[in-house]
Amino acid sequence: MSASSSSWGKRPHRLLTMGEAWEVVRIGVLESARRGPHGAPKIGTESVPIDECMGRILARPAIMDDDYPAFDKSMMDGFAVRSADCAAPGSTLKIRGLIVAGRSADTPIGRGEAMQINTGAPIPAGADAVVRIEDCEVESDCVSLRVAVTAGKNISRQGSDRRTGEVVLTPPLRVGAAQIAAAATAGAATLEVAKHVQVALVSTGDELVRAGEARRFGQIYDSNGPMLSAMMRELGASPRPPSSAPDESEALIATLRNAMECPIVLTVGGMSMGTHDLVPQAFESLGVEWRFHGVSMRPGKPMAYGVGPDGQQVFGLPGNPVSAYVCAWLFVRMAIRGQQGFEPLPPRTVRVTLSEDIKPHHDSRPAYVPAKMWSDETRGLLVVRTKWSGSSDPFGLSEANALLYFPNPDKATPAGTGVEVIPTTWGFD
Ligand code: AMP
Ligand code: MG
Repeated sequence: MSASSSSWGKRPHRLLTMGEAWEVVRIGVLESARRGPHGAPKIGTESVPIDECMGRILARPAIMDDDYPAFDKSMMDGFAVRSADCAAPGSTLKIRGLIVAGRSADTPIGRGEAMQINTGAPIPAGADAVVRIEDCEVESDCVSLRVAVTAGKNISRQGSDRRTGEVVLTPPLRVGAAQIAAAATAGAATLEVAKHVQVALVSTGDELVRAGEARRFGQIYDSNGPMLSAMMRELGASPRPPSSAPDESEALIATLRNAMECPIVLTVGGMSMGTHDLVPQAFESLGVEWRFHGVSMRPGKPMAYGVGPDGQQVFGLPGNPVSAYVCAWLFVRMAIRGQQGFEPLPPRTVRVTLSEDIKPHHDSRPAYVPAKMWSDETRGLLVVRTKWSGSSDPFGLSEANALLYFPNPDKATPAGTGVEVIPTTWGFD
């Protein structure tokens, strides 16, 4: 499927289906992202203090340094007792003292004795159950129990959750607050995580200026550079500061040569067949082999994907902001995740209910439309399109939390239909 430098744009080419395009990217990503020794990601790993691991990708298992719990532990505030002393309700026991969390009893409790205990404190020797304080009546140095007690009641046994040496976090996984809790409980001061994937971003086009810079008539602000930079961070990658290249061959080639120091290179714009669409040839002159150009999708049709001489994953994204966003989420994300050690799969869809009628569209290409889903009390997860005028309009996208997938947009879809959405908020898979 590769094109020689002379054939770009001249060769009549069939648009790939989404399934075909995903498969081509999956294979290309696997070629370049093969895992190193012990299954570690090829980009390498580093040891990071757990306080700084939020959002990082775990590369080695986190392992218990001890049993959890590390001792038989009370689950309740109450009294530690010997169940044999209180098989029937109404037994009265002598209070021997109090054990708070972090301390332990010096001596075992004997027959007819109880020890007051707080949640999390170690069970004193001799005791085999805890009676919660609500079921006890205390009078001077005695406690009467309103309930019958069975052995093991309200005790969490040593090692009942995890044993020393057991794996508690299995890579690859993205580390969030809950995973940090598990790692800290396992005694891990640091985690071995994948190094950041370096991503180069190049916005092309003479019309672009950065927000904050002076703008001539006809010029526009570069929104794709900052957007892609943010998305890369969201995905746990490390974007280089976005660079921009003019629609001029030599300067463009110099910028792209520099960008190809990174394993993943994104360019935006200049991929179509306009007189100033110079990106494809510039990449070819640097040894990039195009695997496809053009996907049957809306927005995002002019998207291209290629592989550089050192396995660089090269994505030529269309310039319109929503096209760039959709293509990055649907394709570039696979490459980032592949480098991080995940299976390079397209994003998962979630089945939800359409809340409004959708009229047929004149274009039959599968569509990915900015949409908002929410949870309705009675009807479950619903989705509605956001107000959106097309691929150059980023505002409807900014109100969206999902892309609504229409496989057959030339057919009407009535409200109440079950539809597929791709959540664009992090954390779904
Ligand atoms: P192109 O793919 O270069 O033909 O660009 C398609 C449309 O997207 C044109 O209207 C461009 O001005 C616009 N565009 C290209 N790059 C950017 C960018 N980085 N930020 C915002 N709009 C862009
Ligand atoms: Mg352009």
